[in-house]
Amino acid sequence: MNALLAPAPRRAIRELPDELISQIAAGEVVERPASVVRELVDNALDAGATQVGVRLLAGGVRLIAVEDDGIGIPPEELTLALRRHATSKIGSLAELESVGTMGFRGEALAAINAIADCSITSRAVGASMACTLDGHSGEVRPAARGVGTTVEVRELFYSTPARRKFLKTDATELAHCVEAVRRHALVRPDVGFAVWHEGKLVEQWRACSTGDPMAALRQRLDDVLGAEFTQRALALQQQGGPIRVSGFAGIPDAARARADQQFVYVNGRFVRDKTISHAVRSAYEDVLHGQRQPVYALYLELDRHRVDVNVHPTKIEVRFRDGREVHQTVRRALDDALAAPRAAQAAAGVVAAAQAPSGTARSEPAAPPAWPATAAQRAWGGADLVARTHRVSDFEALWPQQTGQAEPTRPALQSQPGVGPSDQPAPDPQDPSAALPAGEWPLGRAIAQLQGIYILAENAAGLVIVDMHAAHERVLYERLKGQFDDSAIVRQSLLIPATFAASAQELASAEASAELLDALGLEITPFSQRTLAVRAVPASLARGDAVELARSVLAELAQHDGAEVAARVLERSRDRLLSTMACHGAVRANRRLSIDEMNALLRQMELTQRSDQCNHGRPTWRQISVKDLDALFLRGR
Ligand code: ADP
Ligand code: MG
Repeated sequence: MNALLAPAPRRAIRELPDELISQIAAGEVVERPASVVRELVDNALDAGATQVGVRLLAGGVRLIAVEDDGIGIPPEELTLALRRHATSKIGSLAELESVGTMGFRGEALAAINAIADCSITSRAVGASMACTLDGHSGEVRPAARGVGTTVEVRELFYSTPARRKFLKTDATELAHCVEAVRRHALVRPDVGFAVWHEGKLVEQWRACSTGDPMAALRQRLDDVLGAEFTQRALALQQQGGPIRVSGFAGIPDAARARADQQFVYVNGRFVRDKTISHAVRSAYEDVLHGQRQPVYALYLELDRHRVDVNVHPTKIEVRFRDGREVHQTVRRALDDALAAPRAAQAAAGVVAAAQAPSGTARSEPAAPPAWPATAAQRAWGGADLVARTHRVSDFEALWPQQTGQAEPTRPALQSQPGVGPSDQPAPDPQDPSAALPAGEWPLGRAIAQLQGIYILAENAAGLVIVDMHAAHERVLYERLKGQFDDSAIVRQSLLIPATFAASAQELASAEASAELLDALGLEITPFSQRTLAVRAVPASLARGDAVELARSVLAELAQHDGAEVAARVLERSRDRLLSTMACHGAVRANRRLSIDEMNALLRQMELTQRSDQCNHGRPTWRQISVKDLDALFLRGR
């Protein structure tokens, strides 16, 4: 038998010595130097510091010193600070349940002192002098410093060499330490932070003294993460019952290969939370390409009684009393922010024109608010505006009317070429767009089609380039989603059914899923033993290839277990099915578009949610500013 598995002879039960208890506790709290930094900065902030300095040697292994200008510790309490379960922050269970400080267990300093050489120098508010406590000997002697506290931690893990062996290079440990400070800095713009390594200043973030918390936060995010972050992010603020969500969510274009810019705070505490990250991921799902990781800094505030912070040794996890309400509020906050088309927002001065291709010089943020702000705001969801703007240009060709007039009296013929007559109604005097000079549409005025793929348009900022298929696909997709949710996909019967030779699989799927197909606006029935006939398609897709549409939907249905209930298939793959359909209905490459058709598409994009990305998360349009063009031609240098 394996000697390792052999039961050890029984030993008597004994109480562990105090020091060993602390070392065991330290194992839970302190994994690496960054854990110590986190705990010490927590303490500084709990003490009301406005300035926090962190000095490190050898990635924090040789020295971590955290200095603050907080309220300090009176000399007679100094030795208690290092005692296990000694804290000034809570005194009862009731206080634990509504704790508002970072710390509350009174174990961090004791744990750290058990695995390193510690000293605390502190001068309390009102004290005539400072004192230093040597953590090893317990000796307290007078010292000189202003009000505040400095905690020094030397030779981390000197007594637990096993732990020390797990440490990485100094550079890696330093990076983790800086990240620990960064997490604090991103939630406390009112506090100044500085980090030195081997005597050199590596990071410094000054306190922001503006009265507007959102402005202070933006400034701090700029300082810590670089101006790119907020320039390519949407500010959000949402109150959902007892929960408030604020912060910044990166636009899909700002997503990264790694999940290294995802910050979530609950009542001021940095947390990793599955409920919140799931809510965020699901909001981004529809607009993000492949495995890209969104960037965000989200701040949740809720009644302290609704969240338990005492569930994890390092307090990085919390438990919500009602996870569902948290999920819903976060999801809604992000959905709202991400759905609004960016062009209209940029024109209204809400966000920077965020679609500049990465790599090129960024254009000035926010073009002059030519687009009236109220109109732009309504444009994000205003159905009345949609209805009125429909009349701006001829939609007949690309977008058959969706109001139910698509009755069999005006059937679409399979062979009919895609472009319809162009009947342009007189501009509605109430139409807010009518007042706008054509050049000031957020996405501009179409000027040409390029290579049968791109639409070129001119707007206030310069040149807009639109991937017409990608854009049209999104417009159709969002329309189908909306209609589907209202159980009102408007269908159009084909005068001449489109028939095709079907495989056994396709025949089976069509029969088994007739109801589901019906909900999708499709009527696909057997025509002969080996032929299927498409008799009706969603009106908005009527210009596409009906057979291709039918085949791709059937192929997707075939992937699901035949026994599966149709409703469940639909629940889970609604978006995928509708997206597939939209792709087939969307205008194809090399289709010549008239200027009116191009303009119609641009106007639709301005009104369609999530229209900055196609159904697969790729961008649908890019802005090339006059400034970018000037740079290309070396003008004005
Ligand atoms: P906790 O933070 O959970 O109370 P700690 O072991 O981290 O436990 O700290 C113990 C106590 O020492 C704190 O409750 C606080 O009273 C005091 N203390 C620690 N650091 C500081 C500091 N930087 N400034 C003022 N008091 C401090
Ligand atoms: Mg603490």
